Amino acid sequence: MNADYHLHSFFSGDSSTPTEDMVRAGLERGLSLLCLTEHFDPDYPYPDVSMELDVPACFAEARRLQALYGKQMELRVGAELGLQPHLGAFLKSWLKKNLAEGFSFDFLIGSTHLVDGTDPYYPEFWNGRDQKASVRRYLDITLENISAFDGFDVYGHLDYIVRYVPDGERRFSYPEYREQMDAILKLLIGKGKGIEVNTGGYKAGLPDPNPCADVLRRYRELGGEIITMGSDAHTPDYVGFRFDDAKEVLRDCGFRYYTIFRERKPEFIPL
Ligand SMILES: [Zn+2]
Ligand SMILES: [Zn+2]
Repeated sequence: MNADYHLHSFFSGDSSTPTEDMVRAGLERGLSLLCLTEHFDPDYPYPDVSMELDVPACFAEARRLQALYGKQMELRVGAELGLQPHLGAFLKSWLKKNLAEGFSFDFLIGSTHLVDGTDPYYPEFWNGRDQKASVRRYLDITLENISAFDGFDVYGHLDYIVRYVPDGERRFSYPEYREQMDAILKLLIGKGKGIEVNTGGYKAGLPDPNPCADVLRRYRELGGEIITMGSDAHTPDYVGFRFDDAKEVLRDCGFRYYTIFRERKPEFIPL
């Protein structure tokens, strides 16, 4: 089985792709299970991009597509929650409200997209900033985010920030940030949370997925077992992107299984 557990479409503020096009692309790539993980980033500070999520519409479209493609493709509904340290209570009540209205997610990714209210995706972020200090700050905030809210299943693209470093090597150096990364991994493992291998790193031109092999290996060494595979595709061409390479990386790092989720419960699939 091949399952892509990190996908965006029209319901994410930074994608205009019809969800059905993502399903068709998944079929073409030989995938049999897709989990939509549309963005929900409360207090996202850029007015030109809405990171609100229309949950009822997203579930309705997934149900419509499931009825259409049911025999060939299984569709599940998740979300990628953009975390910030002040959002803990808000996100808890948002999930509760959705549940009460009958919208029960299969899977939730928690992600750090913002460093003190700015996204390193935008080139302006890097103006006048020290690159290493920025990576450290990103990791500190990730730790704070997990401490403030742990209602997710896996943490998204742990070394996301290196995708956008403007010059120098765009590669995460685990030895350089060992202490902080270990603290994050131990906190996640202690809470029973997984991480993902996100092939959007390859798409961004990095030699590695996010996070890189050193971090994946360390998660495994520390006892971590829950790992989902996601392309982070926002367009059809990247659905299931370079999953064979990512599987190879996972096997090299000591994993024998990857994970899928249904109703927030993990299931382990041989690699
Ligand atoms: Zn993300
Ligand atoms: Zn994403």
